[in-house]
Amino acid sequence: MRIVFFGAPGSGKGTQATLLKSTFGIPHISTGDLLRGHVARGTALGLKAKAVMEAGQLVSDELVLGMLEDRLAEADAAPGFILDGYPRNLAQADALGALLARIDQPLDVVVKLNVPNEAILERCAKRFAAEGRKDDNPDVVRGRLAVYAEQTAPVAAFYARTGKLVEVDGVGELAEVSARVLAAVRSAA
Ligand code: AMP
Repeated sequence: MRIVFFGAPGSGKGTQATLLKSTFGIPHISTGDLLRGHVARGTALGLKAKAVMEAGQLVSDELVLGMLEDRLAEADAAPGFILDGYPRNLAQADALGALLARIDQPLDVVVKLNVPNEAILERCAKRFAAEGRKDDNPDVVRGRLAVYAEQTAPVAAFYARTGKLVEVDGVGELAEVSARVLAAVRSAA
């Protein structure tokens, strides 16, 4: 099963992907988590990405694609994966299509979590208080939402045209949203 989780920052992609991962026994691959790992380890990639991430902007397509390609080549991703945070613009969607065609692993479904901006600002403010992620600072979140609207949202229309997009209401109790996500994935796969 090959799934892309799609939605604005703070829409719950990571949380839902983590829950789904045990249901399907496939890894949750978050480009944000991979990048934060590079920053924490102080790798060359992490050094390039740090300031861009803290400002809530997108890291270069080339750097993220190389990192993703390496991750997808690991053995645990052979039976499938849940991708979270990629693709984030149309160029990345094209690159992902080409990469998956090359390794003969086409996507099964793209799940889009719909959450209004006000709810996102609230969630990120809570996460900022709990985890202190610099990019959860309310001003940066507004910028990330603008980046999402300009660059990432058009990717949904791209997947809608392929017939792979399923939209899920991401507002509600965790268990409710998970049940909706699971039903959406099962109906599409
Ligand atoms: P996330 O945890 O998915 O919200 O990602 C945190 C930050 O990592 C983003 O605001 C970007 O700076 C960077 N990032 C994550 N995924 C990507 C991507 N696919 N393309 C470019 N930058 C990314």
